[in-house]
Amino acid sequence: MIESRQAMSEPTSSTRSHSPAAVPLSTRLRVALELLFGLRPADLQTARIYADAQFAGHSIVVRWAKLVGWAWRQMWVSIPDASQELIIEGRISRTPMWLIDANPLANHPWESDPSARLPQEVDTVVIGAGFTGAAVAYHWARRCSEDRPLLVLEMDDPASGSSGRNEGLVVMGRYFKYVYDTVLEALPRLRTDLNRDQQARLARQFARVYCAAAYRNADLIEKTIRSEGFDCDYSRSGWVQGQDALGQEGLEASVKMAVETGFTDWTSIGPEEVLERSGMQVEHPAGFSRAAASWHPAKWVWCLLGAALRKPSVELMTRTRVAGVEDEGERYRVSTPRGSLLTRHLVYATEAYTPKIYPLLHDCILPMQQQGASGDGGPENMKPHVGISGSWYFAGRYARRVLFGSGGPRVPDGEAGRNRPSRFLSRFVAAEMKKQFGPYRLRMANEWSGTVSYTPDEYPIVGLLDGKRRHIIGGMAGSGSGVSFNGGRCIVNRILGLDDEPDDYPPAYFAPSRLIDPARHPWPEIEP
Ligand SMILES: Cc1cc2nc3c(=O)[nH]c(=O)nc-3n(C[C@H](O)[C@H](O)[C@H](O)COP(=O)(O)OP(=O)(O)OC[C@H]3O[C@@H](n4cnc5c(N)ncnc54)[C@H](O)[C@@H]3O)c2cc1C
Repeated sequence: MIESRQAMSEPTSSTRSHSPAAVPLSTRLRVALELLFGLRPADLQTARIYADAQFAGHSIVVRWAKLVGWAWRQMWVSIPDASQELIIEGRISRTPMWLIDANPLANHPWESDPSARLPQEVDTVVIGAGFTGAAVAYHWARRCSEDRPLLVLEMDDPASGSSGRNEGLVVMGRYFKYVYDTVLEALPRLRTDLNRDQQARLARQFARVYCAAAYRNADLIEKTIRSEGFDCDYSRSGWVQGQDALGQEGLEASVKMAVETGFTDWTSIGPEEVLERSGMQVEHPAGFSRAAASWHPAKWVWCLLGAALRKPSVELMTRTRVAGVEDEGERYRVSTPRGSLLTRHLVYATEAYTPKIYPLLHDCILPMQQQGASGDGGPENMKPHVGISGSWYFAGRYARRVLFGSGGPRVPDGEAGRNRPSRFLSRFVAAEMKKQFGPYRLRMANEWSGTVSYTPDEYPIVGLLDGKRRHIIGGMAGSGSGVSFNGGRCIVNRILGLDDEPDDYPPAYFAPSRLIDPARHPWPEIEP
């Protein structure tokens, strides 16, 4: 998982220099030319994000001049220096690391029952079978005692979207100050009627409600894995987030706010502890999420669906794309290439793909590319199962493999889910890892991309889309594991009319009207 503002970094004082092996001129030239001719429009867009973040405050001309200088140093110096580290030979598969394992629900139910047909009518249709759709199905099976059928429709196979293409961290959501800052930045556009002090108080409320929901989400995930006996390689070993010298002030402020507000999962640890926990060598304190975990994200989805499908009220139909939804008053008509069906309730669990089938959300759900790569080997000192981020990349060691990646640009709505990784970014991340882990050898086998979605205030939407019975859980800002399970639980309880469990996603904070129609959104009262 990596945040949108993170793309690519310059060397920082937090990174230790390792004596560079002499790289022959011919290698330097080969790598530089390979990078130059391999550049894609997405690389240039990523570069723009980098320039905006790194050289903010300069004129556009100076920003671009600095960017060209930086790119040149990367292509001619840093990346060729790390060409020994990342071995790229032969065909590199686009299959994400997590989807190499056989998918037990591939082509379900047609694999075992080619004559299966869409039902004519169900109580609830869920579109999408990733973290979110699988969570809704699981909670439906857990909570629904009557004969109310739920059908999950997935255009590909379960976990084929971001849920099978990610970094493999179960996050505690974003930390308090992060949520506070992003909401505060957006409030002047959404709440023009409030003064700055009121906006700051409201942003605090938003952060508190988000963190409370995320903490419960993480605990529910752990309890579910243990009680169900899910085999999804779950390990709660934390997440170390390296910070350079420039990041230290922000880190201190964020930890202070965590302590003040009681959301103390987020803390900081010194370089020695960073080394001990992650193997990363840094010179400055790093951020640390104590209770973050790692898992096999696709297995989590498959386990949830497997458990849900044991109940006759839950059905899953894969390789069935929802082409359209029409409101017919008391029912929605859902069309697919296999035919259409009626449903009373609908849940969009389509994250970055949502604006493609619900264009009204074009400016509310922004699909952003993120990418990963994996291979055998990697830094020997990289500790297994712990989440690791440098200033601008993520990495982790899972089983024999090392996974690494970074963020990228916004993609057009119609291209959500595209699998088009940037080789430049993979090479860049490999060079960054060398700065923090020292020399290593990693033979890259897989390289892929996926899309996550961001709302303009980077706060999720969980609630009703149309004021009727069309629900959404989305805009999770690259932190889907921190929202989807608890969010799915709350939406299921609402559809089933059950109020015996806490609802952590109050409409005043999470309803999509916050973004679609802020003037009429029922905002929360500002607390004194
Ligand atoms: C490289 C990368 C690293 C990441 N790292 C992390 C991390 O470490 N931790 C974390 O919490 N999050 C991480 N994320 C984000 C995380 O993967 C997502 O937030 C999460 O997977 C979203 O789950 P979802 O079920 O809502 O969406 P998805 O997994 O994208 O599922 C949506 C599903 O909807 C289906 N669909 C779309 N349109 C239709 C249609 N018309 N009809 C039928 N089906 C449809 C798609 O095929 C897809 O399967 C990362 C993402 C990426 C790409």
